[in-house]
Amino acid sequence: MTKAVQDDQATQPAQGDKSTQPAQVNKSTQPASRFRLPAVHVLLAAPGCQPLVAQYGREQTVAALRDLLGELRGNLLGGGTADTSEPAVLAALARRLQGANRRAMRRLFNLTGTVLHTNLGRALLPDVAVQAVADALRWPMNLEWDLETGKRGDRDTLVEEHLLKLTGAEAVTIVNNNAAAVLLMLNTLASGREVIVSRGELVEIGGAFRIPDVMTRAGAILREVGATNRTHPKDYEEGVNAGTALMMKVHTSNYAITGFTREVTLPELVPLARERGIPVAVDLGSGTLVDLEKYGLPHETTVRETIEGGADLVTFSGDKLLGGPQCGIIAGRKDLVAAIKKNPLKRALRVGKLTLAALEPVLALYHAPDLLPERLTTLRLLTRPASSMRALAERLRGPVQGALGDGYSVTAEPMTSQIGSGALPVDVLPSFGLALRAPEGTRGNPLGVLERRLRALPVPVIGRIADDTLWLDLRCLEDGQAEEFINQLKDLETA
Ligand SMILES: *Cc1c(COP(=O)(O)O)cnc(C)c1O
Repeated sequence: MTKAVQDDQATQPAQGDKSTQPAQVNKSTQPASRFRLPAVHVLLAAPGCQPLVAQYGREQTVAALRDLLGELRGNLLGGGTADTSEPAVLAALARRLQGANRRAMRRLFNLTGTVLHTNLGRALLPDVAVQAVADALRWPMNLEWDLETGKRGDRDTLVEEHLLKLTGAEAVTIVNNNAAAVLLMLNTLASGREVIVSRGELVEIGGAFRIPDVMTRAGAILREVGATNRTHPKDYEEGVNAGTALMMKVHTSNYAITGFTREVTLPELVPLARERGIPVAVDLGSGTLVDLEKYGLPHETTVRETIEGGADLVTFSGDKLLGGPQCGIIAGRKDLVAAIKKNPLKRALRVGKLTLAALEPVLALYHAPDLLPERLTTLRLLTRPASSMRALAERLRGPVQGALGDGYSVTAEPMTSQIGSGALPVDVLPSFGLALRAPEGTRGNPLGVLERRLRALPVPVIGRIADDTLWLDLRCLEDGQAEEFINQLKDLETA
């Protein structure tokens, strides 16, 4: 007989107690004092427990086992039933340990239709970058070590050449993200002085990044000019005074002002700023390094165009259209970048080795623009032909229908994807995917329930609910992942 749990002696060896017979299933009719739960030390000595101890360690296994037995006892005392046989307890223990050790950050299938989804981690990186990051994790690196001279180096130089070539800028520096780039630039060039920005460009980016607030935190004074819909060159001119440090343009990434509008373009702004000796900075947001029109996508201002248009500094993100790791890039005039690099805040905002390890091979891909749509994951997803997504939708329709049951309607339909992360907010990309609809007249919130079940799968599936339909946009499910997607549908029943 197994011992009652009351004399649980977890740390004691199971002396001679070889009992491996399963304990009886308790009947809730038994009085609580007579519940027989297997003893901790007996369970620990059971062969089925050894792999758990080997994987999770003895302390953690014992603690989880005590908690589990305590819960079982509580259930039984409360009049409930519980399977207290050794195999059942060990199976519950394995589930408990697995659950407690599950990673908080997990991979998932992004079927939202938004390719650069900020909440899902934005750009996915190509294998060359993944390998470089793995190396940087495993090995010492010449992060700040000049291998030519054997002296201390500067981490920015690791990606400098690539970026100068790709943007036409004189100098660059890299920080944690574009928000940090804007903050650092403003703090360096305009602390205690004025920065002229059009009222039409006082952008708020999701997650509480507002140009006026960043300006304040950088110690700069915002000088708003023009109106929300119309700003003229003379507005900038009239905004200038002895305290003006900078004129700044902000790419209106996540909205478009249409109708009766007037924006002062960079070529208009640059001469009047130069005349007055005031530098012009552009927060480009996404900032692409290539002309996306060449790949059949809508045009987005490139960093090179902005530099050639006369901007003295440009800031942009590494993990938006560029398709690299999270970082912020400041590119532009040598003297201004040098001043930025000397700001003590740069030390607080600098990037780590993993970021640079990932960024360098991504930038290198840009030197072969013809191969870019194949090699750069972001561009491959953005340029994926509708026919490919349509074929995949047709392949997945049956299995998904099978998993959901006949009540639901599952159809392959055209839909529209977005680039995301503020890039080209109004342009949408024709896509294809599955539209899931609940049976007519189902009470409650069947799509909400379905959405939750998809999220509970081993690799969570994230779709989008709109118009009484759960949309699964297949743009970001590449063909090689379809099998895994189908295989886990069997878990949908229990999810
Ligand atoms: C996205 C964006 C930012 C913020 O960039 P992060 O890399 O997310 O910090 C700032 N400005 C503009 C215009 C943007 O589009």
